[in-house]
Amino acid sequence: MAQTGASYDYDLIVIGAGSGGVRAGRIAAGHGARVAVIEGDRPGGTCVIRGCVPKKLLMYGSAFSSDVEDARGFGWQIDQMPPHDWPALIAAKDAELNRLEAIYRSLLKNAGATLISGWAKVTGPHEVTVDGASYSAEKILVAVGGAPHIVDTTGLAAHAITSNEALDLAQFPNEILVYGSGYIALEFAGIFNGFGAKTHLVYRSDLPLRGFDEDVRAHIAVALADRGITLHSGSTIDKVTANGARKQVTLSSGATLSVDAVMAATGRRPNTAGLGLDEVGVTCGQQGEIIVDAESRSSVPSIFAIGDVTNRINLTPVAIAEGHAFADSEFGGNKRVADHKNVASAVFSQPPIASVGLTETEAKAAFESITVFTSGFRAMKNTISGRGEKTFMKLIVDRASDRVVGAHMMGPDCGEIMQGIAVAMKAGATKADFDATIGIHPTAAEEFVTMRTARP
Ligand code: NDP
Repeated sequence: MAQTGASYDYDLIVIGAGSGGVRAGRIAAGHGARVAVIEGDRPGGTCVIRGCVPKKLLMYGSAFSSDVEDARGFGWQIDQMPPHDWPALIAAKDAELNRLEAIYRSLLKNAGATLISGWAKVTGPHEVTVDGASYSAEKILVAVGGAPHIVDTTGLAAHAITSNEALDLAQFPNEILVYGSGYIALEFAGIFNGFGAKTHLVYRSDLPLRGFDEDVRAHIAVALADRGITLHSGSTIDKVTANGARKQVTLSSGATLSVDAVMAATGRRPNTAGLGLDEVGVTCGQQGEIIVDAESRSSVPSIFAIGDVTNRINLTPVAIAEGHAFADSEFGGNKRVADHKNVASAVFSQPPIASVGLTETEAKAAFESITVFTSGFRAMKNTISGRGEKTFMKLIVDRASDRVVGAHMMGPDCGEIMQGIAVAMKAGATKADFDATIGIHPTAAEEFVTMRTARP
């Protein structure tokens, strides 16, 4: 289809049918826009097909092993860990992803948006080309996400898998090395360890999860080691070679490890290569991210971008919020921007971590004076189960306003708990509001409203 005069084939072309792109396309269509969404892979994107959803399903599966261990303390007579059928889990997971993909397709269809299959290239400020066919639109939204980035280390790219492959392994590895200590590294180390693989976590910093609160980082290191993961802190990989079916890994310390698989979890990069953005004048940053303003507009006024491709906050709900705000602003007559403040997130490690707001270090820099409340305790379930693992909680308060400006937790269900804390913080809750709230007993969450003594 070609452009005639000032009219375009579509009002909006969205490139990428992930969570953010689909939300933007659906909402814009609901506002009456003529929308096409182009996708080269499966609708659903990173979150549904290669990220949050399959990862969490595998995480649930792997956590049953610790449940079995804990059950023994409650009188369940399970002598041996029951065998696990990895291919059966992968098949069940795949069936669920197929179901979700179909839902994504029907969401677009029901909204009246056209799904075009193929890899898109931006060929003009108002033009996108797919497999030789050109489509024009008044506005283009780039929502192509990101992809795993393997750092440049001898043999790593040739021999390592990434989270993409880790979700689909035909055979479960008995021994695996996970490289990195961010969200993805910790989540997958927990998955492999939970299913019984001997798991090594190799990372260059002294503690996992750089950027998280220092107390949480220290607690998760202890917890991961207690769960049986071998931590190689302060280490990088010098080289990886193949040794038959095994991989030989040389660490910076000179130590070598022989494992069945190496998983690189060394970050992600925006998927902008080959999109043609340079040629049309869209400014990208050092990692390939599209530079946008608060309204998600790029340096070309008719081209917008949302989600991981902009490398702002790389979380699905943020991409959805950005996509929705874009559609409302550009097609719904309701100018608004996505709010990036106090976004809560969880790392689905085992045990999990969740936080919202500032770390202690950030709060010290932002406020003249802060008060810190912490609580570390053995959850009630762990008394009888015999698991020594502690739950850790922390509240950071701006002394001048009494507002809670940071909340952090490591322990069971913290993702579920932190969502409620995030609402309170969004509403500007003070420590006095937390104190005035009566706890639900007996829960771990009640600790958040009963922390009375500030840390000296
Ligand atoms: P992260 O940025 O969180 O972690 C990357 C890891 O790679 C860090 O440990 C980093 O070390 C390490 N690394 C980077 N470069 C090198 C290098 N040259 N040599 C050695 N190590 C290196 O990325 P992830 O891929 O884990 O996740 C990407 C993003 O996706 C997250 O930040 C998050 O926004 C999102 N995500 C969210 C999830 C959730 O909400 N549950 C789950 C998964 C992903 P160092 O810390 O020392 O720099």
